[in-house]
Amino acid sequence: MDAAGLDCDIAIVGGGMVGASLALALAALPLQVVVIEAAPPEDDAQPSFDSRTTALSNGTRRVFEGLGVWDEIAREATPIRRIHISDRGRFGSAVIDAAEQDVAALGYVVENRVVGRALWRRLRLSPRTRLISPATVTAASCGPSSVRLDLDGAAVNCLDARLVVAADGAGSLVRSAAGVGAERWDYGQTAVICQVTPERFHDHVAYERFTPTGPIAVLPAPDGRVGLVWTLLPVEATRVMALPDAAFLAELQQCFGWRLGRLKAVARRVAYPLALTRAESAHAPRTAIIGAAAQGLHPIAGQGFNLGLRDAATLAEVLADASGEDPGSAAVLTRYAQWRSTDRRALIAFTDGLVRLFGSPLRPVQIARNVGLVLFDLSPSAKSAMSKLSLGFAGRLPRLARGLPLVSPLADRDRP
Ligand SMILES: Cc1cc2nc3c(=O)[nH]c(=O)nc-3n(C[C@H](O)[C@H](O)[C@H](O)COP(=O)(O)OP(=O)(O)OC[C@H]3O[C@@H](n4cnc5c(N)ncnc54)[C@H](O)[C@@H]3O)c2cc1C
Repeated sequence: MDAAGLDCDIAIVGGGMVGASLALALAALPLQVVVIEAAPPEDDAQPSFDSRTTALSNGTRRVFEGLGVWDEIAREATPIRRIHISDRGRFGSAVIDAAEQDVAALGYVVENRVVGRALWRRLRLSPRTRLISPATVTAASCGPSSVRLDLDGAAVNCLDARLVVAADGAGSLVRSAAGVGAERWDYGQTAVICQVTPERFHDHVAYERFTPTGPIAVLPAPDGRVGLVWTLLPVEATRVMALPDAAFLAELQQCFGWRLGRLKAVARRVAYPLALTRAESAHAPRTAIIGAAAQGLHPIAGQGFNLGLRDAATLAEVLADASGEDPGSAAVLTRYAQWRSTDRRALIAFTDGLVRLFGSPLRPVQIARNVGLVLFDLSPSAKSAMSKLSLGFAGRLPRLARGLPLVSPLADRDRP
């Protein structure tokens, strides 16, 4: 290392929910890891740890248990015991129940800032992980044995890493610098996100209600509140964002109905334009691509972060099992990308298919999906398959997502 630069084994660009999780997993390995994050993690402006709520799957809970952050997150997480799916103004509906699926919860709802705080608090205790934040990566160029990153806003102005991980979100600079293109499909929809206080207790039920303008997800949250993800046409989203609270609640009430009694109060609203982004590849020379940098999904099935975390858990496992190998070698990166391909492809197709199915204005499609919902409600095997989403979608699960340690305690003992 010289005054202006720094050498390391792995540089993770982006310390959002996925990048910070990977850094924590790698803290168990004898590797020098550097995390570069543009926003100060404790800052309210941190885009990955904002006031959004995320539905965490059971597989994600296991990964967080393995990383030692679940106890802290669980204190502020709300378990989902039932999922109620309905189509506004039509007959079809379905219920998935945790007890019937033999699990304690179908998932857990938690604010992103709670996850971010737990991850960064633990990361700061890790002696081998260097955190550079706030600092922005402005360029990345790959040489034969390392990638050079240029940094802005840090004490070091460049860094050489044997492996660079692009965890810098959907508009990833690292992905583009590595020459990997990304397909982007704009859904022409905007999600309005906020917390709402209803008259009745949610009783740990998550509601997914399909309406002609897009789905409404209402997720159970602490203190009797619910987290709202209201998908609308952009022009409608702009209009409801500007409504006074009482008028906003009245419109929401009309769309969502009275299952939770009167909707009494609403907190700050935030709007997110929705698009599908898909990187052409999950790797490039000396570069691994994870989380939203690899794929950004519609929130209809609440699976984007869960999928991104499986990227992180898989990459950590491939690196753990590659001790003695160059972590940025083509062989290591090919193993990572091949392992991820089935899960990524299946979940992207599933989520995109749901958006199209429930967004279709065609009457035969609407009738078919209502019949489908009724049949789904009568079919234990279909529900069981659906609840498997809460563990992982398809393909082999990484050890952390199966509740196993990343490295065996025996291997750990032999480490320097
Ligand atoms: C409305 C909505 C609801 C959602 N609900 C769910 C849900 O219920 N369940 C679920 O599983 N998923 C959900 N998701 C998806 C989930 O939020 C994302 O998958 C997740 O946030 C992706 O995390 P990430 O760390 O990969 O990327 P990001 O959150 O985008 O983080 C990227 C990080 O990189 C940093 N960064 C960017 N560029 C640079 C640079 N050049 N240098 C340094 N740092 C940089 C940024 O500051 C940021 O911290 C939802 C998404 C949306 C939009």
